[in-house]
Amino acid sequence: MSATSYRELLTRVKSEIREVDVNQAQALIGSGAYAIDVREPDETAQGIIPGASAIPRGFLESRIEELIRDREAPIMIYCAVGARSAFAVKSLEELGFTNAVSLAGGFGAWKTAGLPFEMPLSFSPEQTRRYSRHFLLPEVGMKGQRALLDARVLLIGAGGLGSPAGLYLAAAGVGTIGIIDDDVVDDSNLQRQVLHSTERIGTSKVESARLTINALNPDVQVIGHETRLTKENVIEIFSNYDIILDGTDNFASRYLINDACVLLGKPNVHGSIFRFEGQVSVFDSSHGPCYRCLFPDPPPPELAPSCSEAGVLGVLPGVVGILQATEVVKLIIGIGEPLVGRLVHYDALDVTFRNLRVDKDPDCPMCGPGAPTTLDDIVYSDLSCAVPTLSRA
Ligand SMILES: [Zn+2]
Repeated sequence: MSATSYRELLTRVKSEIREVDVNQAQALIGSGAYAIDVREPDETAQGIIPGASAIPRGFLESRIEELIRDREAPIMIYCAVGARSAFAVKSLEELGFTNAVSLAGGFGAWKTAGLPFEMPLSFSPEQTRRYSRHFLLPEVGMKGQRALLDARVLLIGAGGLGSPAGLYLAAAGVGTIGIIDDDVVDDSNLQRQVLHSTERIGTSKVESARLTINALNPDVQVIGHETRLTKENVIEIFSNYDIILDGTDNFASRYLINDACVLLGKPNVHGSIFRFEGQVSVFDSSHGPCYRCLFPDPPPPELAPSCSEAGVLGVLPGVVGILQATEVVKLIIGIGEPLVGRLVHYDALDVTFRNLRVDKDPDCPMCGPGAPTTLDDIVYSDLSCAVPTLSRA
């Protein structure tokens, strides 16, 4: 048996697969076919076809099934000149993919034809490994990861809700996490506030959170605000963030956070916990109700004990905070249906999740007609559980 040269092998493989030209490839992508770039990272760094997934040739067989389950899905594979992609199609056919084609002339032909390409989002080798499970989800992919890394999220409180939310947002690669908290770690916090630890008792919560988050993911820039949120500083602080995550345990702060988010047009990912129950919603007054649409009047103080007075099951904020973190990630990437206009009520004892519809109040004092345009005339009590009032001038 005589040895086959590379040229002969390539010619034979090309005769056994289907090739398309750049115009056919463009039409395929336009009709929803998967585009896969099998070049190496140093090549894709020079530009890729918009919408293509980059899977280096050496990883194609091992990764393709995670990206594409449907063996009949149309797939257009390209490389630099159309050789590696020809072998790639041949190999996919052996894996049972029936509708894969190779782009003749590869990315070179695409570029020469003047068709659009984009500079790929660049990730370090460490990031490529760290976020690989995101890259495997077409709905997230490199674009979604880049959006996460570019996002700025503010956690109000590094406590029960802020802890699990902060941990998971950091793990997911949210690039900038602001934390506002003026408290220090107390041993009574450790039953639920998993950002902190026994050795940090007495340390500022912001500093403790920064240490934990950066130990988990050094990509994250943690911005600490060791202060109490007031109507004097809220607008300036919120202005630096895309999304606000409300993890407070008192009504005065909730109304202040809501009102500032309404004025700034920023989404407020709200969570609250009480004993064995939790609530989550996304208040985005430009697309749905705000917190005051739902609760125009705060409950009387005797019916609104704070966490420290009411007690809370230690695992409960884990569930609620991670639901909040999930909403934040969805908002950043732009996937799924956000909890705008809906409130999820979770009962840990019954294990029930109730999805309640909440409507915008046409007469809402904060997002309705004639609502204030500044916080100047709104009175927020300093007492943690006292009732804030909205006085309309
Ligand atoms: Zn409202």
